[in-house]
Amino acid sequence: MLVILAVSDLKRSVAFWRAAFGWRPRVEVPVYVELVMPGGTLGLYQREAFTRNTGEGAAGPPVAGTTSTELYVRVVEPLATAARLEAAGARCLSPLALRPWGEEAAYYADPDGNVVVVGRALPGPAPLDPDAETLDRWLQASSAWVLDHLAELAAAPASGTTTGAASPPITEEPAGDLVDLLPGLARAAEVGLRPNGAGYLAYIPGGGLPAAAIADLLADVANRYTGLAATAPALTRLEADVLRWLATEFGYGPEARGILTSGGALANFAAVVTARHTKLGAGGDWRDAIVYTSAQVHHTVVRGVRLAGIPEANVRALPVDDRLRMRVDALEAAIEADRGRRPFLVVASAGTTNTGAIDPLHALADVCAREGLWLHVDGAYGGAFVLSPEGRRRLDGIARADSIAFDPHKGMFLPYGTGCLLVREGRRLAEAHHGDAPYLQDIDGDDATPSPTAYGPELSRPFRGLRVWLPLMLHGARAFREALTEKLELTELAHQGFASLGLDIVDPPQLSVLAFRLPRARDEAVEQWDARNEALLHAINARGRVWLSSTRLDGRYVLRVCVLSFRTHRPTIDALVEDVRAAISA
Ligand SMILES: *Cc1c(COP(=O)(O)O)cnc(C)c1O
Repeated sequence: MLVILAVSDLKRSVAFWRAAFGWRPRVEVPVYVELVMPGGTLGLYQREAFTRNTGEGAAGPPVAGTTSTELYVRVVEPLATAARLEAAGARCLSPLALRPWGEEAAYYADPDGNVVVVGRALPGPAPLDPDAETLDRWLQASSAWVLDHLAELAAAPASGTTTGAASPPITEEPAGDLVDLLPGLARAAEVGLRPNGAGYLAYIPGGGLPAAAIADLLADVANRYTGLAATAPALTRLEADVLRWLATEFGYGPEARGILTSGGALANFAAVVTARHTKLGAGGDWRDAIVYTSAQVHHTVVRGVRLAGIPEANVRALPVDDRLRMRVDALEAAIEADRGRRPFLVVASAGTTNTGAIDPLHALADVCAREGLWLHVDGAYGGAFVLSPEGRRRLDGIARADSIAFDPHKGMFLPYGTGCLLVREGRRLAEAHHGDAPYLQDIDGDDATPSPTAYGPELSRPFRGLRVWLPLMLHGARAFREALTEKLELTELAHQGFASLGLDIVDPPQLSVLAFRLPRARDEAVEQWDARNEALLHAINARGRVWLSSTRLDGRYVLRVCVLSFRTHRPTIDALVEDVRAAISA
C-alpha cells in the first residue's frame, strides 16, 4: 500500500525514516520519495508539492501541542507502527484510540515537528460483489504485497522460520481490510521452507512464475467453465493448443491427447487407470494385475496403483543398476515369473526424485512392445527437460511411451497445482474416462475441441491452460529451453565443485539432481558415517544461503542437491560449493 506523508524538509525526513526503520528508497524525484517498508510503501512528498497536487494533507482534526499541518498516514499495523515510532524517538501526541470519524488513529511528531497521524480505517462489511473502488484498493494492496514479497525473497535466507503466528479467528464481522490482513499472510509464509527462492536446492524446487500468478487471477475472475468445450470453446481450445504444443515437444503425433491435472500424483493415477482400462478392460478382477517399476519409483505411482483398485503387493519394485536405473534383465525375469497372472503396465522414471535417474527408455519400450504391456513414463520431475536440446537427448526414447506424466509446476516453473498427463493414443485416455449425464444434454456436443472432462477424472476444474499459456506468450518458449539448459549446466558445475572437494559423488548428474556424501573413513561404522553426513547437511543449511535435503540409498544417508528454480543462477551454485567447503572444514 502507499501511505502519504508530506514533509517540510524532504531530505531530512527521508534520512530520518531510513535511519529509524531501514526503509529503502524506491522512487526518488526532487519532490517525492517512495520508501519500501514492510507491508507496503511510504510515499514522502514535499509539503508544497503535495498540497498543490492533491489538496489533501491540510485538513484533519486539530492536535493540541503543535502548529504543524497535519498529515494522515494509513498504515498496515497502527499498533506495531506506533511502537516503532516511539522506539525511533518520535513523540506521541495522542495514543492510538478510536477517533470520532470512525477510525483508530494515533498522533506522533517526528523530530522536525511533522505530525504523523497513524490510522487504520475500520472497514464495514465489503459486499460479496465489491465496487470498483474497493476492488482497485485490494488489487493495489496485493500488488504492493507481491512486490515486497519478491524484494524480500531476494535478500532472505534460503529457509524461513520454524514457528509462527496462528490465523485470526473467523468471526461474523470482517476481520479487517485486505491491507490489515496481508502482513499476517506474509508472516505465515515466512514459516517453513522457501521453495520459490534461489537458494532452495532441496527436494524438488518449486516455481512460481509471476506470469502464471497473473494468469490465475485473470482466469479466476473470468471464471469460465472449461470442463466442457461447449461452455467456453475458445478458452478450452487455447488449453488444447497448449497440450498439443507440449505433446509435440515430447515427440508425440497428432493423435495424442492430454490433460492438465493438479500435479504429478494425479497424472500418474490417471495414467494407471488408462493403462488398466486399455489392457484389462472395464470390468473386473484386478487381483492378478501386475505393475512393474524400479525400486526408485516415486511413491505416488504405488499409491496410484492402489487407488486404481489393484493390490499394492502387485507392484514389482525391480532392482536398479549402479546408476540407479531399472534393470531390464530384472524386468524380463519378473515378467517370466508372472506368467499366468496379468502383467499390464511398466512405469519407468524419467528423472527419479532421489537422484534424477532415467530408466533405459528404449529398452523398456522394446520389452513392452514385445510383451503387450503399457509403458508409462513418470517424468513429473524430469520430463520438462525435453524442452532443452541437451535434456531431450538424455530423455531419448520418451516418445515411445504410451503415456507421460510431467509437472509444469516443477520443470516449467509454474506455481503449484499444474501437472500434465499426455497419452500417445489420445482416445485411450477418453475411453478410460468417459462419462455421460442427461443434465449435460444441452452442451454435450461433439465439438472439434475436446472437452477436458472427457479426458480426465474431473468435471468442474480451474482453467489451468491459461497459467501454462500466458508465461509461454510473455516469455517465449526459448526462455524455458535456456533456463532448463542452464539448470543442467549449473548441476554439472556443482558436480565439478564437489568432486574437487573430494566428496563421494553417489551418481554423476543424469539431470539436475546431484547426490553426494562424505567419503567413508577406513573401518568407519556405517552409523557413524551416516551421522557425519547428517551433521554436514545441517552445517550447510545453517549457513542460510542454500537449503539442501537428504535421502537414503541402500539404507545409507545421502545428501542431495536439486537445481530447478528459475531463480537459481551461477552465484547460488558458487555459494553452494563455498558453503559445502566451509562446512566440511569446520
Ligand atoms: C513430484 C513427483 C511426483 C508427484 O508429483 P506432484 O506434482 O507432487 O503430485 C511424482 N513423481 C516424481 C518423479 C516426482 O518428482
